[in-house]
Amino acid sequence: MHNTRYTIHIGFETHLQLKTDSKMFCHCKVTFLERPNSMTCPVCLGMPGSLPALNRKAVELGVKAALLLGARINLRSKFDRKNYFYPDLPKNYQITQYDIPLATEGIVEIKTNDVVKKVFIQRIHLEEDAGKLMHSETQNKSFVDLNRAGVPLAEIVTAPDISSADEAMEYLKRLKVLMRYGDVSNCDMEKGEFRCDVNVSVSKDGKLPEHKSEIKNMNSFRFIKQALAYEISRQIKAIESGEVLTKKTFGFDVEKGATFEMRSKEEAMDYRYFPEPDLSPLIVETEVIDKIRQNLPELPDSRALRFVSEYGISKYQSEIIADDVVLSEDFEYCAKRYNPINIANWVINDVLRLLEEFKLDTSSFSKIRDKFVELVRMFNDKKLTNTVAKEFLQKMLVNGETLDSLLKSVSSESIDLDKIANEVINENPKAIADYKGGKTSSIKFLTGQVMKKAKGMADPNKANEILEKILKGL
Ligand SMILES: [Zn+2]
Repeated sequence: MHNTRYTIHIGFETHLQLKTDSKMFCHCKVTFLERPNSMTCPVCLGMPGSLPALNRKAVELGVKAALLLGARINLRSKFDRKNYFYPDLPKNYQITQYDIPLATEGIVEIKTNDVVKKVFIQRIHLEEDAGKLMHSETQNKSFVDLNRAGVPLAEIVTAPDISSADEAMEYLKRLKVLMRYGDVSNCDMEKGEFRCDVNVSVSKDGKLPEHKSEIKNMNSFRFIKQALAYEISRQIKAIESGEVLTKKTFGFDVEKGATFEMRSKEEAMDYRYFPEPDLSPLIVETEVIDKIRQNLPELPDSRALRFVSEYGISKYQSEIIADDVVLSEDFEYCAKRYNPINIANWVINDVLRLLEEFKLDTSSFSKIRDKFVELVRMFNDKKLTNTVAKEFLQKMLVNGETLDSLLKSVSSESIDLDKIANEVINENPKAIADYKGGKTSSIKFLTGQVMKKAKGMADPNKANEILEKILKGL
């Protein structure tokens, strides 16, 4: 535990991959897991004489991101060269926006323990991604894949307003939810579509200190949380022991759960920024902004409120559902077709559990939503037991089996209730003796056995009725 006398200052620089078909300055396709270096051209390979041409869709998505964050858009911004040498950067510079970014002054509202806090967004700028290096220890070689070089990114920079790891998690979740709602980015962290540099500093007097640790290139919420905890306690220990902290850049060692020092923080002058001579200033017309603004989606908070009033589900459930844009659309689709409260219960208790357990995307649920409605209806009509309905849902969601084939597979085995009832009676002489001895409750056990054999596809009342009939005749 760290001492409460310390104030924590956390800020994020988030790199968001914009959802375009092609790269930022050329026509190369944006893909994932394609053959290395197959999605490249003279522009993104940095060949001499090649010229960049700006992707309009990337700018529009950047504007949309800015509007979703309530930011002010600069009608005139510009691109700059950030110069540095690295093997994954064939041009030896990255095209980014330096002194005049696309947008400034946005807000992300976060809620922790019912306290609402505003995290200030300093700037949102557009830039291109670098390539990817792969190091092979067995071959003692490094490889470079430039498929990612030139992929459009929006960088979203906050002020160091965040004062705990929990707030940090809320901020990141909120940002991801908003960007997914706007279809600005898929924010798939495993594919590197949402990556963060985390700035953290601890001070004793509450003021923002000179020193700062920047933890680079984090793409997992869990690791960010671990890295923050580690770095905060490291800084506190250092301050306690009288050490003078400075600006430094760190990586995070996943195995050790610890940050490690990479280099002392470079300053802007090290990059020798200068205006990109091959691109004209970026002018965004107000009509374009207005059009994007008019087409902004319904946001998660208002969607959650609407679900409560329109479908009568609980606030708790509606907030969970509304946090995922795809899930909330699928919920609404189902809720319009059957009892919304039942639908919400199944979505929260079962669908989300399965998606999490099997690490599936919410889009897997979209594929089965029609049959999901049918499944819930059959369960409510007592045509399926709870166990079977759950088993079916899992098979539909995880294995891609169809409800029709699942129903067929069990119904053919379990049509003959009389036969099953007789089998159960033959297999359970003790329960029969009990029943005959006056312990009528043992019929419940027998009914249970029939249901088990019928794989839950029988009507328990009917099974009970048949058993009674047979038992009375014995
Ligand atoms: Zn290209």
